[in-house]
Amino acid sequence: MKRNVENEIVIVGGGICGLATALALHRKKIKSLVLEKSEELRATGAAIIVQANGWHALDQLGVGSILRQTAIQIQGGKFISISEDEQKEVAFRINQEFRCLKRTDLIKAIANCLPMQTIRTNCQVLSIEIDSATHYPQLLLSNGSILQAKVVIGCDGVNSMIANMVGLHQTKLMRFSTCVARGFTKYTNGHQFPSEFAVISRGQVQLGRIPMTHKLVYWFVTRLSTSQADSTISKDSNLIRRSLLESMEGFPIHAMDMIRSCKLNSLHLTDLKYRPPWDLLLNKFHKGTIVVAGDAMHATGPFIAQGGSASIEDAIVLARCLAQKMHNTKNMMIGRCIVSEAFDKYVKERRMRIFWLSLNTFLVGKKLDTKSWIVRLIVIAIMVVLFRDRDCHSRYNCGTLREEEGDYI
Ligand SMILES: Cc1cc2nc3c(=O)[nH]c(=O)nc-3n(C[C@H](O)[C@H](O)[C@H](O)COP(=O)(O)OP(=O)(O)OC[C@H]3O[C@@H](n4cnc5c(N)ncnc54)[C@H](O)[C@@H]3O)c2cc1C
Repeated sequence: MKRNVENEIVIVGGGICGLATALALHRKKIKSLVLEKSEELRATGAAIIVQANGWHALDQLGVGSILRQTAIQIQGGKFISISEDEQKEVAFRINQEFRCLKRTDLIKAIANCLPMQTIRTNCQVLSIEIDSATHYPQLLLSNGSILQAKVVIGCDGVNSMIANMVGLHQTKLMRFSTCVARGFTKYTNGHQFPSEFAVISRGQVQLGRIPMTHKLVYWFVTRLSTSQADSTISKDSNLIRRSLLESMEGFPIHAMDMIRSCKLNSLHLTDLKYRPPWDLLLNKFHKGTIVVAGDAMHATGPFIAQGGSASIEDAIVLARCLAQKMHNTKNMMIGRCIVSEAFDKYVKERRMRIFWLSLNTFLVGKKLDTKSWIVRLIVIAIMVVLFRDRDCHSRYNCGTLREEEGDYI
């Protein structure tokens, strides 16, 4: 077995969080290596909504202005509810920055700012353990080699192998009974939709629609999942489209046409896994010099469109905490105690933020999920008390990557 020693900081997973973490560390002059199991960087799920807090975090990474050029600002929206005999429409304003980005644009913009050789694709981490001699983590890779690292940051998504092997979660992943399909529709002669976020619902099916340019529209459909059938359907874009059209019976013609003429290669159907919010109150999230971030730390449903932005916030806070501690030592040393203290600070700063985000998402998801009107009423009552201010999550500011007091280089 090959032994491949001495990588100081290894990030497992080259999704939004892993890349953002590598870039945040790079901005703090700290080198890292990203290991991604796929053959190339993936951007599953067509597009991603980024709200004001996410744009603030992207600005800290230095990629906000370039990304704004490809994502139009959404100023408002409307909820349309359709039933057999009537249609109700409620308009809402969006007071803060709200744009929808192509996932590929986001991934590329971050990856392009990283130094060469930061990302190693086709490199799956199979297991992690602590070396009994050095007390540092070592990773077994799919090519059979062992990589020793001083720090491992698990950004390996919802089914995080790092979190599972190190035992960082108290509870198991759970599933909403809803699933989501997402895709793009391109209108060669331009579309007629205003620059607004429209949500059309009929029974337990919901369609969200956001124009990205005057020709391209991003949309998502949530419906109750039929676990077994969906696992077959999700493998075939034609089947996804057909199943969406069936579940959207009674929706307006323009909505049906949008699904009918979608770009098949952008279609993606996924079930929704989450960690219960209380898991986030109980967990330690790091063990020695191993830590988790992004969905590996706080898998939530997509109902308030904040998982990706929260992952970028994680990256900023993690890099800041690590840099502050390291810069306070001689030669930017990565000692176990230093790293552990930095991770304590990171977890302390993130815990309540991700708890409130996760609770808000959980309640919105439950409201969609449940067939019981009593449960729905209870959920609405809790939301009125706790989340009367709907925009509070997007006003959050994760702070800067700039030097702060006590952080000297
Ligand atoms: C339907 C849906 C809609 C969403 N919409 C929004 C939205 O509008 N706005 C928003 O902010 N968020 C949204 N989200 C949430 C957002 O997509 C996630 O929070 C975000 O992608 C998490 O990024 P991540 O890097 O933590 O995980 P991932 O994107 O899952 O990346 C993990 C990476 O790790 C790699 N990996 C896994 N295991 C290993 C291993 N063992 N070795 C090496 N590599 C490995 C994977 O290949 C992957 O590239 C949505 C989610 C869903 C499901």
